[in-house]
Amino acid sequence: QLQKPKLILDDGKRLDGRKPDELRPMKMEIGVLKNADGSSLVQVGNTKILAAVYGPREMHPRHLALPNRAVLRVRYHMTPFSTDERKNPAPSRREIELSKVIREALESTILVEEFPRSSIDVFMEVIQADAGTRLASLMAASLAVVDAGIPVKDLIAAVAVGKADGIVVLDLNEPEDMWGEADMPVAMMPALGQINLIQLNGNMTPDEFKQAMDLSMKGINIIYNMEKDVLKNRYAELKEES
Ligand code: ADP
Repeated sequence: QLQKPKLILDDGKRLDGRKPDELRPMKMEIGVLKNADGSSLVQVGNTKILAAVYGPREMHPRHLALPNRAVLRVRYHMTPFSTDERKNPAPSRREIELSKVIREALESTILVEEFPRSSIDVFMEVIQADAGTRLASLMAASLAVVDAGIPVKDLIAAVAVGKADGIVVLDLNEPEDMWGEADMPVAMMPALGQINLIQLNGNMTPDEFKQAMDLSMKGINIIYNMEKDVLKNRYAELKEES
């Protein structure tokens, strides 16, 4: 589509039928891969992310190991079939940048000091991209890290907020991401009350920014409760199996 469509319709709803303060449907699952130490599948609307975690394990190559903490290595990657036009499988600048952004946010949650000389390797594959892949990947990584039994300070819950046709909206869809006036991904460690990732593309007034922050906090709380439920249910399942 080459021309901006109307993003907020006359009934006040968005192109996907949601109200401005509504989240997309979400699904989260952990322990989905047999050969990884931890794994997860996260779906936010049509965005689907698979995450795998290995470690903590002995660092290879050894000279990259740190004497006082684990090194976190993170790869965000889009599969060639994840977008409407085949994506070149070679890592793009965007993927390299997002890998770094995700690593820094994830690192702030992990107790890396407990694992000197080790590495923790986190892989995220975007299976289907439909806006919000960096945050869905970050949440998938956070869940997979916990699934691997790695101690964390808190889970990460995250959602993008922004502005479309002058309205502050929660959890941007792809047309809003592409054509909206502002796009602001926000990630938090909710129990600690700490924001660990925030970016802003586009423009908002300070008032709209405040409104957007409030809206993101609402969304993050709902998502955080879903994450905790996923972990609780998984542990209940494991107990039954044993
Ligand atoms: P995020 O996925 O975190 O929102 P961007 O704002 O960079 O990150 O991308 C927005 C959306 O644009 C993506 O979720 C995806 O749907 C689409 N997109 C990103 N990169 C590509 C690409 N190389 N080819 C096609 N679509 C893409």
